[in-house]
Order: sequence, then C-alpha cells, then structure tokens
Amino acid sequence: MTLPPLRPLTQASLDWRADDTLTAAPHSTRFDDVYFSRHDGRAETEHVFIAANDLPRRFREWREPRPFVIGETGFGTGLNMLCAWACFRAQAPAGARLHLVSTELFPLRRDDLARALAAWPEFAEPAARLVDQWPEPLPGVHRLWLDERVTLDLHFGDSAEGLWQLEGRVDAWFLDGFAPAKNPEMWHPALFEAMAARSRPGASFATFTCAGVVKRGLRAAGFAWRKVPGFGRKREMLAGEIATPPRDDARRGTPWFTPPPARPARHVVVVGAGLAGTTVAEALARRGVAVTLLDPAGIAAGASGNRQGALYVKLAAETNDQSRFYLAGLLHSRRFLAHRDPNRALWQPSGVVQLANTEREARRQARFLDNHPLPDSVVAGLDAEPLARRCGLTGDLAPDCGGLDYPAAGWVRPKALCARLATTPGIDYRPTAVAALAPTDEGWRLDLTDGDALVVDQVVLANARAANRFAQSAALPLQAIRGQVSELRLPAGAPAPTRVICAGGYLPPPLDGVLTFGATFAPHDDSDEPREADHAANLAELEATLPGYVAALRATGAELDASRLAGRAAVRAASPDKTPYAGPLPDAEAWRRDYAGLAKDAKRIPETPGRHHPGLWISAAHGSRGLASAPLCAELLASMLCDEPLPLPRDLVDHLHPGRRLIRELIRG
Ligand code: SAM
Repeated sequence: MTLPPLRPLTQASLDWRADDTLTAAPHSTRFDDVYFSRHDGRAETEHVFIAANDLPRRFREWREPRPFVIGETGFGTGLNMLCAWACFRAQAPAGARLHLVSTELFPLRRDDLARALAAWPEFAEPAARLVDQWPEPLPGVHRLWLDERVTLDLHFGDSAEGLWQLEGRVDAWFLDGFAPAKNPEMWHPALFEAMAARSRPGASFATFTCAGVVKRGLRAAGFAWRKVPGFGRKREMLAGEIATPPRDDARRGTPWFTPPPARPARHVVVVGAGLAGTTVAEALARRGVAVTLLDPAGIAAGASGNRQGALYVKLAAETNDQSRFYLAGLLHSRRFLAHRDPNRALWQPSGVVQLANTEREARRQARFLDNHPLPDSVVAGLDAEPLARRCGLTGDLAPDCGGLDYPAAGWVRPKALCARLATTPGIDYRPTAVAALAPTDEGWRLDLTDGDALVVDQVVLANARAANRFAQSAALPLQAIRGQVSELRLPAGAPAPTRVICAGGYLPPPLDGVLTFGATFAPHDDSDEPREADHAANLAELEATLPGYVAALRATGAELDASRLAGRAAVRAASPDKTPYAGPLPDAEAWRRDYAGLAKDAKRIPETPGRHHPGLWISAAHGSRGLASAPLCAELLASMLCDEPLPLPRDLVDHLHPGRRLIRELIRG
C-alpha cells in the first residue's frame, strides 16, 4: 500500500458577518454556512449538544476511573467542546476526567480561531489554552492538554476516516457539521457506521439536523433516534443512543494486534528511569495512578543521562509509517515540553538544521521536499546563506551547504527532564532492580533485588536493552548501540551556533558555556566507558562538517584536543526496524501456536485475537531519538493502561506494536 504523502490540510476560509451581535460570526465561504448561530451560539450548543446528551447529570454521576469520552464531528471553532468542558468543570466530582475527541478536515487558522472565540468573553481563559496549543494543519491526531482533568484529541482529516482510525470508545456524540445539504460529502453512511463501531454500549448522540439522510444513516448503523424540539426557530432535531454497538472488526485482517481487554490500573510498576520510564511514570501519575519507578542505577543513568540532546527527527524521502510516527512524535514532544516546562528551563525551541553536506543527502532532501509540502513552520528547505544566518554562523564560520530547517525542533536537557518528571506527585522512585517477574491472578508479583516484593496491577518495561531480559519479553530483539558525546568548555568570546546543527553528528547551542557535540554510533558495542578515540572521532566529524567554525574555535584558544575533552558514553537500545516498541507484550508462545498456519497460507487469517501477557507493557528501543518518541509512546501506553482513546491513529498504533516482527517471522515461516 502506498501512503498518501504528508501534506497540510486546506484551512478554513472564512468571512465575518457582523449583525446585531457584538462580535462578527464566522461563516464558511467554502460551504456557505455558519459555524454557530448568529443569535446565540452558546445557548444553541447548550441546547443541542449538552442538554440533549444529558451531560450535566451524566457528569455529576460519573464515578469511573476512566474518563468520560465525547466524540464530535467537525471541531470548527471549538465552541461545543468549550461548552462541554465548562459543563464538566461545573458538574463533575473531584477525580473525574473528561476526554474530548473531535475531527476536522478544514482546520481554522490560529488567528481565525482566536477571533471566533473572542465572541465568548466568559471562555477567555480556556480559549487561550486552546489557541496556545493549536496544532499545525497536518493530518493525524494531535493531543492537547486543556487542564489537569481534560484532554482534547484533534483528529485532523475527514470525519469518517478519522473515526475508523480512532482507537477508543465514545460515551456521547456531538454529531455536528455544516448542513447536510451544504456538505453532503461528510454525511455519508461510512460516518454513521464508524460512529457505531466506536461507541460504548448505550452511547448517546445529538445533532441539530433532522435530514432524512441522517435519520436513515443513523438507523442503519444501529442508533435509535427520536425527534426533540430544536433550538430557536428550528422546530426539531435528533437525539438518541445505540444500545449494542456492532463488534469492532477493525482488525479482521490483523487479529494479532487486537488490544487486550482493559484491567484495573490502580498501582503500576515502571521498570527503568530513563526518558521512556519517567515519561510513562509521569503520564500515569497525572491520571491518578500510583506508580513505583524502579531503577538500580538512578534516574537517567543510561542513554538519557546526557546534559543536552537534540529534539529532532530525520524523515524519510518517501512517506512511510515510521516518518509519520516520528513527525507526530516531534510535534507531540513540543507540546509536551511547552506544557510541562513553560519557562523553558529544561529545553529550548532553538530550531534544528540538517545539513545537505553530501551529494547524496542533498538529493535525498530534494526528494523529501518534493514529496512533503509541509508548512515552513515545520520544515523548510534553505540555501546556504539563509541557513547560515539561522544558525548564527556566518562568513568564514558558515557551513558550505544548504539544508533542511526544522523551526519547531530544538534541544532538551534529558537528564534534568527525567529528574523533574520523576518527582511528579504519585511516583515513588526506588533504586532497586527486578529479580523476578511473575503473573498472579490479578496482576504481577515482582521480587526486587533489595529483598522486597511488590504486587501490582500492571507493569511497564522501560529499561532499554535490558527490557528483553525477562522470560515474558525474551522474544523481542534489541540491539545495543554505543554512543559517546564530547564536551568542550568554550573560552570567552568563542562563537557558537544558535540552532542545533545536524549532519553526521549534532551540535546544539552551548549550555552554560559548554559545547556538546557528537555522538558516535557503534552498533553491537555495549561498553559505556568514555574513550579518547571516540572524542577524536567526534572532533574529526565536527571539523569535516564545519571547518571554518572549528578554525575559529581554535583561534579563541578552545582546547580541541581529544585527550582533554570531557564527555559521556552510553548504550542505547534499538529494534531491528528502528521503530520503538510501545504497547502490550505479546505472549510469543501463544502467537506461535495460534498463527502457525500463516506460514503455509498467509491469506488464511484466523479469528483468534492476539494473546498478550495481561497487564504487561513495554516502551523501549527509542535508539537515539527518544526525545521525539518517548513522550508520545508514554502517552500511548498510559492511555492504553487507563482504557482511554489513544493519541495515534490505529495504523500507527499497530506500527509500534511490540509483536510486529514476531508476526512477520511467522508469516514468512
Ligand atoms: N462544532 C463546531 C464548533 O463548535 O464551532 C462547529 C462545526 S461547523 C458547523 C462544521 C465543521 O465541520 C467545520 O469546521 C468544517 O470544516 C468541518 N467539516 C466539513 N467537512 C468535514 C469532514 N468531511 N470531516 C471533518 N470535518 C468536516
């Protein structure tokens, strides 16, 4: 299957029709329809979507550990979701959580969004949080944190397609959109079928329209509806529910990826306190889960322990799932960092350039740009001169080539970030290792090397290359890759880049007067002793990439001598296909039995859902891209453990599945 290239969606084209209201109301020129009623948009939303779904009462009575989930078609200006959020704040008991999922094919521009929401001064603060985090108009899922209890997943793309790719179940639907007569493409049978397939039993819906196509589509998909009084001059609208949603057969062709049934997640152990582990621990603790974080070596003692690391990705020239995941990961990490550390003590969105410093890389970048007309705010091709200006290294110091510029990327202090995350309330860190891991009737028993034992609901393995040292995870291949960075204290007046510069290695702007550069890349080497030869290799790489800059450093008296450089070596873990493992751990023996027939006939796919070690999960194999992958994988795992909608479309969830290689091997025999 060839994937559509990653390209931005067409944004909403609006005009503003003022009348007797204070603020002009947005009107779509494409569909010749309004986003909300000119007379009283908020009262209309309260009537059509909030009251007809009985939300005030349902929020008041919500006692589940999982969040209440609202699904919407057509996010538009977000007015409906802001009203749902306000109702939840007013009604829901402490501890309750709300998860909003909304689709949008023509996202508003950020300034249009801000202008539209200015009509509701009472929503000034929540609207500002939405506008602040408003994502680039790229297809896929964008997770926003509205407050401690409320999450919004924007599924940018067509409603029916987005809902088919939604991994999660909805309690109440806001079936919104432009009038069916003005936008017949959206009100398609596939949309109603996708809604039905993504409903919890008893899920409700409400919609402003009574059009025949909607009534027929809803009924055919299994929803019961009734006519109820509409808002204002509209006589009628529809509300109803689906008692028994159809069986979810999204994975009919890939039953091995069927998610395991939900289990309690009151107390979870996370094994490993690097980026993968501390991000998972924090994502769980934020959801009210008690987390015990185990690592005998300390917080960020392994590959996450560098002072400084580049937050960037290298996207393939041709679109593939790996690039789609890493781009989503990069954008997610940006929102994650901005939300957790708004003062930027732990990171800087300096931007990253990737030099086109060989013929081959220049051709690759040209193909990439042809295939991916992404917004300049995400990635842009630059000639040598503007690139040099952006890096702050001009004239003799400049790189002698152009390259790709990622303005949204930057650098992070990984060790400090892990330390900060590990102090999230609800996380108990213990400097000890797991000696044995055994299932119990309801969870897991862990014997610890300090002599203690723990019995918990679920376990996440996030201990890099040691993650496959348990019997349950032994089937996952992991490769050790040694990497060493070098550190140089800059003399006063020494020049320095203002963006991260990547070529063979990477060079971030200095931190506290120290320039970090590297890293070496040595597969199958699992020593973490720093070596002079590796410093020499880092120096040689730097000099080959930026000869003018290195000469200028020498001129200022910088000690560019391998025997005198400081630095740090660590061993990263990677999977054979270089995509992280994030998801439930397959029961490899059961897969080998259940799917043995695939070797003879790959088309005869059994119905048996993939069997997993119940309540055992993994986030590992982040290689040297953990800053872009670990926060999104953490959010994915926490959502899986807590029975919430997932922050990625289903095909990317499967792309990360820890059993992907096992099933490929079984199919190949
Ligand atoms: N719920 C919105 C609010 O609270 O502001 C108003 C929604 S507006 C009436 C309809 C929205 O549906 C528009 O934002 C439009 O771009 C979007 N839309 C149109 N066709 C769509 C499709 N096929 N898939 C997803 N969204 C679509």
